[in-house]
Amino acid sequence: TALLEVKGLKVQVEDNEILHGLDLTVNEGEIHAIMGPNGSGKSTLSHVIAGKPGYDVTGGEILFKGEDLLEMEPNERAAKGVFLAFQYPMEIPGVATMTFLRTALNAQRKARGESEFSTPDFLKKVKEVSARLNIPQDMLKRGVNVGFSGGEKKRNEVLQMALFEPSLCILDEMDSGLDIDALRIAADGVNALRGKDRSMIVITHYQRLLNYIIPDVVHVMSKGRVVKTGGKDLALELEKSGYAQFEDKAA
Ligand code: ADP
Ligand code: MG
Ligand code: MG
Repeated sequence: TALLEVKGLKVQVEDNEILHGLDLTVNEGEIHAIMGPNGSGKSTLSHVIAGKPGYDVTGGEILFKGEDLLEMEPNERAAKGVFLAFQYPMEIPGVATMTFLRTALNAQRKARGESEFSTPDFLKKVKEVSARLNIPQDMLKRGVNVGFSGGEKKRNEVLQMALFEPSLCILDEMDSGLDIDALRIAADGVNALRGKDRSMIVITHYQRLLNYIIPDVVHVMSKGRVVKTGGKDLALELEKSGYAQFEDKAA
């Protein structure tokens, strides 16, 4: 069954149309990669799905679990199971990562109509999940992302993802700024979260990440549209032939 259905989506930023009628369907449990050159609208799409302000939807629709996603506030979308991992995670000095995670998780549970975690239950849960993802406990005592390496920031995002148990994870260029070891660790964390109740959209400019997170479906975006869809081999093909062929078609 379809989890996310984007149909004919048109989006403007400050009166400039960025997405020109984009179609995308992600079924339950599928991993989709979205590739494309810089400026093709990949981040715009992820922001619109998450509900970031500043984007005007001028056409089309987005259904999530059959419901109109565009009618929902960002926190409602998160509560329904949409999770966006940022390309550049924010630093929050003075707030311990552990405190941040607990506040965010309980806010989400509340929005879902679930009871908040007690302190011991939360600690148990975080210990369990961070051990599974190889995240050292002392990282959780530090301020959110403050002084974290690129790899630690990504692992922190993966930890959030694991705690929130979303049904749709959007990873926007999680490979940017990571060396190969950090990339492998972050990808292992993501792979550990794969499951039949969880879909993922992996956005990347490079094929490299898709050696570690193997997608079911690959889409190519160019100039605000999905211009080609295929299997995982499409990523390899792109690595050889580049994006220029699609740029010509989109123009
Ligand atoms: P990608 O993630 O594929 O690199 P983006 O979605 O970031 O692409 O950007 C798509 C286009 O939209 C670019 O031409 C970019 O300049 C423009 N754009 C994105 N965000 C804004 C914004 N906040 N204000 C103005 N233009 C924007
Ligand atoms: Mg970009
Ligand atoms: Mg981007």
